[in-house]
Amino acid sequence: MLKDSKFSSHLLHLSQLQIINHKTLDEYRDRLKTYEDYLWFGKPEKISAIECARRGWACQASDSIECMNCHAQILAQLPSVLKIDEYTESIENTARSLVDSHHRYCVWKFMIIPESIIQLTDIYSNETINKFIQEAEEFLSQINQIDIVGQLKTLFHIEPTDFDLLSSTHLNDSRLLSAFKIVVFCWKLKNSLLTCDKCCREIHIDINHLVFDPILSHRAWCPVLKNNQWKKRIEQIENILHEKSRHKLEEIKTTHDQTEQILPDIISTQNLFHELISSKEYYRSCVQSTFVDNTSTSDDMDHSTKNSMST
Ligand SMILES: [Zn+2]
Ligand SMILES: [Zn+2]
Repeated sequence: MLKDSKFSSHLLHLSQLQIINHKTLDEYRDRLKTYEDYLWFGKPEKISAIECARRGWACQASDSIECMNCHAQILAQLPSVLKIDEYTESIENTARSLVDSHHRYCVWKFMIIPESIIQLTDIYSNETINKFIQEAEEFLSQINQIDIVGQLKTLFHIEPTDFDLLSSTHLNDSRLLSAFKIVVFCWKLKNSLLTCDKCCREIHIDINHLVFDPILSHRAWCPVLKNNQWKKRIEQIENILHEKSRHKLEEIKTTHDQTEQILPDIISTQNLFHELISSKEYYRSCVQSTFVDNTSTSDDMDHSTKNSMST
């Protein structure tokens, strides 16, 4: 084994970690991808794939993980859940070793990928929704037909008109709506590979016709599914859209109120118009009767003329 001083010079240090932030996140996602369900199976939350990966560990074999920086290793074969005490103790020990097993100078002994990267962030603004709409547009540019299946088909109520309130670019496009329902649940599409930003599940898709369940396609331990965070996200989006709709309706109402101020004039004009109509009808009836009278006069005249001519 290398001496501490020599060994530590090979290790990633805290200052480096702060500088190479993007690289650090990419490496975190690379580690996360190694946790195949059949390798890291049935692990509780304390030692889940995410908890291990965010502390520098990658899965190397069945129940076996290794630090990608100091190369320490942990074997986590849990006893049966029926032996509850042993099982709980084993989980506690493994959870502790996620920190303790790192080399004393390994950065992952002190560092952890922050919660904000792992969890779904709350959505409070139209700007975030507009960002998702842009992502959905990019998503659509790569794909022909999308069919959403599963709970989102009925649970997520967005009307195409809701988008009209937020984005002036288009709308009434059901394809955009479907793409939106995919991107808001952390799916990114690149070269026919659909990847979850949170659990790093990768799915090869048919870009001509995507039939997709944006929720159940996540890995069982994905933060999107944890504590029904996906339902919370739906609620937040619906609230923003409905709030926006309400503002829009208030605007319309204000315009309507202004309209109401001039409405009496219109109504009085309408009444006048009706009066005019009745007057006109009265006038017409008068004219008609006059016309009838005239006709009879004319007939009389004709008759008299005829008589005079015949005479
Ligand atoms: Zn380490
Ligand atoms: Zn996921």
